Amino acid sequence: MRTASGEQAVDVAIVGGGIVGIASAFRLAALGLAVALIERDEPANAASRGNAGAFAFPAILPLASPGILFKAPKWLVDPLGPLAIPPAEFPAVLPWLLRFFRASLPDRVEASTAALAALNGLTEQETAGLTREAGIAGFVRHDGALELYESEAEWRASLPAWERCERMGIEVEHVGGERLAELQPGLSPRLVKAVFLPQWQTVSDPRDYALALLKAAEARGVRVMRKNAARLAPHADGVTVVLEDGGELDAGHAVVAAGPWSKALAATLGDRLPVTPERGYNTTLPPGAFDLKRQLTFPSHGFVVTPLDTGIRVGGASELARFDAPANFKRSRHMLDKAARFLPGLKREGGVEWMGSRPSMPDSLPVIGHAPASRRVIYAFGHGHLGLTQSAGTARLVSELVLGQNPSIDITPFRPDRF
Ligand SMILES: Cc1cc2nc3c(=O)[nH]c(=O)nc-3n(C[C@H](O)[C@H](O)[C@H](O)COP(=O)(O)OP(=O)(O)OC[C@H]3O[C@@H](n4cnc5c(N)ncnc54)[C@H](O)[C@@H]3O)c2cc1C
Repeated sequence: MRTASGEQAVDVAIVGGGIVGIASAFRLAALGLAVALIERDEPANAASRGNAGAFAFPAILPLASPGILFKAPKWLVDPLGPLAIPPAEFPAVLPWLLRFFRASLPDRVEASTAALAALNGLTEQETAGLTREAGIAGFVRHDGALELYESEAEWRASLPAWERCERMGIEVEHVGGERLAELQPGLSPRLVKAVFLPQWQTVSDPRDYALALLKAAEARGVRVMRKNAARLAPHADGVTVVLEDGGELDAGHAVVAAGPWSKALAATLGDRLPVTPERGYNTTLPPGAFDLKRQLTFPSHGFVVTPLDTGIRVGGASELARFDAPANFKRSRHMLDKAARFLPGLKREGGVEWMGSRPSMPDSLPVIGHAPASRRVIYAFGHGHLGLTQSAGTARLVSELVLGQNPSIDITPFRPDRF
């Protein structure tokens, strides 16, 4: 069958060639379905390109939590701090912030922790299967990560959260002294305590990983279309994806995996979903800038340092601003200054700066489920800080929704109409 514009119709059209769309395309094609991946840019060129490369399976505590409400006022007064809302952006961001505060109340946090634990548990299993099946397991490092503290008091304050994680089955090792120096030599003595998370994994480079997965998907028949999807038009037998150039693609199902831009596509179906761009910054230093054994995270400062094949990536931060607001690369430099203080031997020359937008939901949970307007459209976006981590698990759930199977985990916490 051909569409009006001559395009071959497919079983599933996925809009968005970031890591969530690519993983979903691979999973669906591996099940024998005909899949088109519609991407208006180079695949994996947005957040899926420049992220910190962590499969952060132990990250089951939502960002929206009482702890962040406590830290946020201090962070917000520092213009280069871990959390920033440029004054001009405040009115637009306010409704999202109000939802974030509501989601940070203790009863909500308990439910969102359980939902994240279930999704991260599924995704940990699925990542192992997907990388094996795609022949890309060699891109994944099983080195664990260290979360670092500057004082005993700071570490002690973190203990209740770690106890909650342990109760949910996360392996946690509290370290200091020689054990810390063995896990990561060359740290500043101001870092006195750390938590080692052995289940944490990283990729050799997030863009390389995504493109290798895409290659494996294409080998299974996925067709990449360099097109901009303008809107979705569901009908009784499927969905027509209307392209900006006037073309159309008919599909049995459509998957919206367009990261923070999913909001605009969902709006074409009448759905108002509060996914917002949450911008992050980093600098990738040349390989060899530091002898880094594993990813290091600095929870009080909102940044991480990751060893990639392509270099040492220093970054993080959270800036709530529109797509077209000017980038402020003072943020990446500020995180680099801090990293140099914690890693005295860090060679900070020759770095490449980058900024990208996480697709963030106010309750720290992605949207995974049928669109309220049509069961032919499946939403898979809003993974915030955990899009790479949750990509394989999301792909599994998307495939189950397409095939009309029972999802592997309860997806009601992720339903699109929860707001
Ligand atoms: C600084 C930083 C560090 C991070 N670190 C980590 C980490 O260590 N681990 C982790 O798990 N996550 C991390 N994240 C988050 C992670 O990068 C994102 O959650 C993830 O990349 C989102 O993937 P996605 O596929 O949903 O969206 P994206 O990567 O944003 O991809 C969406 C794609 O859709 C395309 N698109 C949009 N609209 C249309 C349209 N109408 N038609 C066609 N194409 C369209 C876009 O061009 C884009 O390529 C980090 C993010 C940042 C910013």
